[in-house]
Amino acid sequence: MIKISFIGFILVLNLISCSSNQLVNLSTAKDAVKDYYESGKYDAEMNNVIKEAKEKFENVEVKKNSVVIFDVDETALNNYGLAKQMGFGYVYDLNKKWNEELKAPAIKQTQELYFYLLNKGFKVIFITGRNFNEYDVTYKNLFQAGYTEFDTLITQREDEQNLKTQSFKSKKRAELTNQGYEIVGNVGDQWTDLNGVNSGIQIKLPNYLYEVK
Ligand SMILES: [Mg+2]
Repeated sequence: MIKISFIGFILVLNLISCSSNQLVNLSTAKDAVKDYYESGKYDAEMNNVIKEAKEKFENVEVKKNSVVIFDVDETALNNYGLAKQMGFGYVYDLNKKWNEELKAPAIKQTQELYFYLLNKGFKVIFITGRNFNEYDVTYKNLFQAGYTEFDTLITQREDEQNLKTQSFKSKKRAELTNQGYEIVGNVGDQWTDLNGVNSGIQIKLPNYLYEVK
């Protein structure tokens, strides 16, 4: 009995220290995220990441089969407007409608890196965790947003949907490597886009809207 109460006491202490040191009210957290995206802080961080990315690719040898992988959401395309519409949560119908209506604009800094790499002679391939039934709308949205030159767009097939993001993306990169591509770099807003095999130079973009594990 004494032991149990002691453990209980420790738990209560932990909860108190947790609530006073780490937790913030949800609306405060949302306001902070909104401020980050709307006050220019996001743009400033992106400018910096892309500047450093260009320096990393500057002296990489370009071969005929050299390719840089790009993720789609919050990497090539900007869904901040949708996130706001959804109250910084997730609403299936709103998300589906947004994708179908090709609403997402390009993230301008990513697009600058995309053109920089294309001009140097690198190929580009998009790999996204979006499902295959959204292949067409994703392709069209990328095209409409100005990403008109890429070798292929890879979405997740039904038989791959049990795979977690990192396993899925690693699997696809391994397949591309087996097809003869040399992956020299990988650009994504999640570590699960980047970690794993055949990743090359990893460019991690900021995303404070959600985390894909
Ligand atoms: Mg993404």
